[in-house]
Amino acid sequence: FQRETYAANAIVFRAGEVGEAAYVIDCGCVEILLGPEGDQRRVDVLAAGAMFGEIALLDGLPRSATVRTLVPTELIRIDRDHVEGLLQRADPVVQYLVKLLLERVRSARTPRPLRERDDHSDHNALTELDPGEQLHSAAVRTLSLAQSLSDGIRLGQLEVHYQAIVLLSDASVVGFEALVRWRHPALGLISPDEFIPLAEKTGLIHRVGEFVLQRAVADWATLRPLCRPSDGSVPFMSVNLSAPELCTPGVVQRIQACLAAHDMPPQELHIELTETIIISSVELVSHVVQGLRAMGIGVALDDFGTGYAGLDYLQTLPFSCLKIDRSFVQRLHSGERSVQIVSSALALSDMLGLSTIAEGIEDEATAQLLQQLGCTYAQGFFFGRPQLCQALVGPCGS
Ligand code: C2E
Ligand code: CA
Ligand code: CA
Ligand code: CA
Repeated sequence: FQRETYAANAIVFRAGEVGEAAYVIDCGCVEILLGPEGDQRRVDVLAAGAMFGEIALLDGLPRSATVRTLVPTELIRIDRDHVEGLLQRADPVVQYLVKLLLERVRSARTPRPLRERDDHSDHNALTELDPGEQLHSAAVRTLSLAQSLSDGIRLGQLEVHYQAIVLLSDASVVGFEALVRWRHPALGLISPDEFIPLAEKTGLIHRVGEFVLQRAVADWATLRPLCRPSDGSVPFMSVNLSAPELCTPGVVQRIQACLAAHDMPPQELHIELTETIIISSVELVSHVVQGLRAMGIGVALDDFGTGYAGLDYLQTLPFSCLKIDRSFVQRLHSGERSVQIVSSALALSDMLGLSTIAEGIEDEATAQLLQQLGCTYAQGFFFGRPQLCQALVGPCGS
């Protein structure tokens, strides 16, 4: 921290400047000014002990106000690097809270051009409060859910269920996909579609992902004997990885360490990535996919056809498997077009030397049609629903 001395009527910073520091008043006082130069209104006066300038510091946007000393003043300066460091080490929920509060403060402070003209309209003043209030209650809802997810992870409320992946020709099990669920004490079993997006936003996904990987690899010893691939392929456990996890430095080494700790051969692990991840950062994804493949881990492109990733990525990224999204599979019987889409996906996969898994098969007719179209592997309620490891093994352990 640095101490800075100001005379009376000195500008500490101006609206529009880049915020590189926040300040705490050690002695003296300052006024906060809003509005254009020459027509500024004082909105606040701060005295010893108060902090200011922290908003622009945290969100990196330009200063929204000008600050001027009223008397000779001493300030303690807190630099951006210091605050960022603190925040990065903070709990993800705290980070998210800070982000939401900043958005809220910003939106409340942003001067609205219409305001001056409509000054005497009470109705308008009320509606102007609305967005901030809405954001606030949305923030509170999200935060309380994030907090209970954070608690839930700690209290062991997450469960991993496993869904069989089978060979279409004889329904023999070749592998399992690990799918997380949250057993909430009051709300029951919550689907990952409901909490994974929240976990991704708040950074809790790292704890979720770590848990799922550990659990799946630990359960593999029990589930591996249930795999009886009649085509001689290597049995596998498939785990989903989301974008923030993929973007974490050392992700490949972390997976490697987990495999080593459980004596699991890398060839028996598959990682599933969705098309959306690829769009977010091709170079990074390419680096990680190559790292995983170099170790012998299989990498599947999940939800193929839903993310508009383009076909060139399929050629440059060394995937080992392509999973055709269930939205295409489930439309197979409703029209010629869906048959053509699935056929093209299968042809493409074949051409690139990838294996193909069709997702979401719910009836025998679809299974038969897919086999006719040349698909090798499948996954869906028709072959088995996701279940706990113990349920799959059965009460007699066989
Ligand atoms: P996904 O990776 O595409 O997983 C397949 C989803 O389809 C699962 O939903 C599965 O239960 C469902 N499904 C399987 N067969 C059928 C079927 O025949 N009919 C229908 N209607 N659905 C079927 P689930 O378990 O609710 O998971 C939803 C999504 O949540 C997953 O989609 C995946 O994107 C995400 N997810 C699940 N577990 C994890 C995880 O551990 N980490 C991450 N990052 N994401 C996960
Ligand atoms: Ca998946
Ligand atoms: Ca999928
Ligand atoms: Ca999906």
